[in-house]
Amino acid sequence: MDNVTSWEKLKHELKAAAAGLGIDKIGIASADPFVELKQRLIRHRELGYESGFEEPDLDKRTQPSLLLENPQSIIAIAVAYPSKLKNPPKSEPGARRGIMSRSAWGEDYHKVLRDRMRKLEDWLRERVPSLRAESMVDTGALSDRAVAERAGIGWSAKNCSVITPEWGSWVYLGEMITNLPLPPDEPVAESCGDCTACMDACPTDALVAPGQLNAQRCISFVTQTKGLVTDELMRKIGNRLYGCDTCQTVCPKNRGKNWTHQPELQPDLEKAKPLLVPLLTMGNREFKEAYGQTSSAWRGRKPIQRNAVIALGNFKDPSGVQPLANVLRSDPRFELRATAAWSLGRIGGAAARDALEQALKLEREEAVLEAISAALAAGSPGNRDAAQEALGAPGEDDGLVKRE
Ligand code: SF4
Ligand code: SF4
Repeated sequence: MDNVTSWEKLKHELKAAAAGLGIDKIGIASADPFVELKQRLIRHRELGYESGFEEPDLDKRTQPSLLLENPQSIIAIAVAYPSKLKNPPKSEPGARRGIMSRSAWGEDYHKVLRDRMRKLEDWLRERVPSLRAESMVDTGALSDRAVAERAGIGWSAKNCSVITPEWGSWVYLGEMITNLPLPPDEPVAESCGDCTACMDACPTDALVAPGQLNAQRCISFVTQTKGLVTDELMRKIGNRLYGCDTCQTVCPKNRGKNWTHQPELQPDLEKAKPLLVPLLTMGNREFKEAYGQTSSAWRGRKPIQRNAVIALGNFKDPSGVQPLANVLRSDPRFELRATAAWSLGRIGGAAARDALEQALKLEREEAVLEAISAALAAGSPGNRDAAQEALGAPGEDDGLVKRE
């Protein structure tokens, strides 16, 4: 295969084969270096907006030739996932529930997309035996979004997601750098226009400018950390256990978009919106059995358990006091004990105060002692700030928390 027409023909055949390979959209990008992106990433780093989960080498993130020798094109793929739960279990007094981000509802998308990439690679190799390819999904060096944008999968939106005209932003992205000179596609025109719904709805003002995210303030990132969280951010986490979808759920381009055709990506309702209390005492093995197949498990059980503690506090449901008191008294992890103290302070009342006072006598860890004292002070009559009272309980279905 050596002329332009044959590569054009192969590209058309590839796109026609996409659905049969379980892929919802395919676009082709040139394998040129991402020069502009590199400048943006440098600035992003200088401003301290990185999450810390990124590939640290900016050259690797922006130069496909460092990942595959003499690359000729990048094939970008998108696989659509659901955005709605059908008949979700209700979060009720005495049986409060948390919410997982939509990207963690089904089977781990890294696994699902790797499967699609393998199929795509086999399909290509049958036609071009000399194929060389390097595939990646999310954790690879290249920026999935920059590649998807260049390949015409969608536009890079103000909420920092890639919005496809067909599927909205409810798509997982992956890419394959190849040695095949497939002709590139045209980028999709930017269509956010004057809209700023995502920036207005972000509970923490993490979208500092259109398309610019301060990951340190983004709840999606914060829910994946393992340490202590600030009072402000704990309030804003609401009942989110993993990730945050607010800037996507409010996006008008996602209206009515819910994709149920990929079997592995469909949610298990009890895992997408789990009861909070049973999460608190889940051991490692139990957690792996329940969540090991989803993308929320990559940081282990600790962040999710800490977030469950926070959610119980944010619900201010007195039924949370006893389970939180148990965490405060006996969880071996000081971050969980300190967070439980915060949540007991948030719920308030005599039983919560009792639990805090008991713990104050036994606790040895400085950070927990501080959290207990702060919680006792927050719980004293006349000391509760008005904003805290105005917040109310977290949203039932999507973890939305009102802006304070
Ligand atoms: Fe804001 Fe949540 Fe979007 Fe992060 S994911 S930018 S916290 S709305
Ligand atoms: Fe763009 Fe509006 Fe969607 Fe934000 S909410 S990504 S501004 S269309």
